[in-house]
Amino acid sequence: MAIVKCKECGYLLSERAHTCPKCGAPTSKRIQKTYPDDSYEAIMECRTRNMNHTVKSLVGIGLFIYILLFILSILLPLAALAVMLWWLHSNYPLTF
Ligand SMILES: [Zn+2]
Repeated sequence: MAIVKCKECGYLLSERAHTCPKCGAPTSKRIQKTYPDDSYEAIMECRTRNMNHTVKSLVGIGLFIYILLFILSILLPLAALAVMLWWLHSNYPLTF
C-alpha cells in the first residue's frame, strides 16, 4: 500500500482510497491502475465489487421483508378483530 498525493489539493492519502478525505475528489489512481483486464488482481477487484453489491442487495431485501412482516403482524390481528366484530354485529343485529 502506497501513499499518493491528491491531484486536487495535494493531500497525502492511501492509494486504496476511492476519494480524497480532505476535498472529496475522486482518486484517479484506481482508473490509472494498469493491470491487464484478465489479470488476477483485476478479476479479484471486480469480484469483490460484485460481492459487495450482492450483499447490499440482500440486506436491502431482508430489511424490506422484516418491515413488511412487522407491519403485517400489527395489521392482521386488527383485521381479524374487525372481521370478528362485523360477524358478531351481522349475526346479532339487535344486541347493541
Ligand atoms: Zn484532495
